[in-house]
Amino acid sequence: MRSWTSTAGNENGTTKLREPLTDEEMERFEGYAAAIFSRMGMDLATPGARETPRRWVTALWDMTEGYDGDSKISTLFPVECPDCPDEEKTQRVEGPIRFTGLCEHHVLPIRGNAWVGYLAEAKLIGVSKLTRIVRLYATRFTSQERICHQIADELAKDVQPRGVIVYIEAEHFCTQARGVRELSSRTGALVTRGAYNTNPQLGEEFRLLIGRHSTLSPAA
Ligand SMILES: [Zn+2]
Repeated sequence: MRSWTSTAGNENGTTKLREPLTDEEMERFEGYAAAIFSRMGMDLATPGARETPRRWVTALWDMTEGYDGDSKISTLFPVECPDCPDEEKTQRVEGPIRFTGLCEHHVLPIRGNAWVGYLAEAKLIGVSKLTRIVRLYATRFTSQERICHQIADELAKDVQPRGVIVYIEAEHFCTQARGVRELSSRTGALVTRGAYNTNPQLGEEFRLLIGRHSTLSPAA
């Protein structure tokens, strides 16, 4: 029995956390957006901007679709060699998984890549499901660290592996487009669980496998 467990609550990736907007809400939110944009200088009477408040509310809804859950993340397979000794079980690594999220501090995009590794015990998860898990938790109002933890928790819960590691490298539009306007720096966040905390060789292997290369667009 593993001595570490997921810190997540009852919520899992398939949980739907919101209902669709009603027509009344859509109209009201469109009105809020129109008031803000016009006060900031937008001319809502022009053909290009007339529908912008509605488009913006819809875009924000789409960019937070992680709250709708994902029913397709739970495809599991047995490992090839369930009777192999622990040290011979394989480390699976997937990435870079590209994502765009929204920082909850400024509601501006966080764009980056995630690498996810785990040491299987008895089950493997379908490769495309890892992409789904990353995007499920990225497309919310969130932070880079929280995305890392939620991915690790989801994997711990679904796959029950011997260990999980998640590395995310991202650029934050809130530091690029405002404030210090820093264009070149990237932020890294790493979360490890289980065997990755007790066996440094696993982390080394993971680092070699992902190459620590950035595939983000070069800074202007
Ligand atoms: Zn921010």
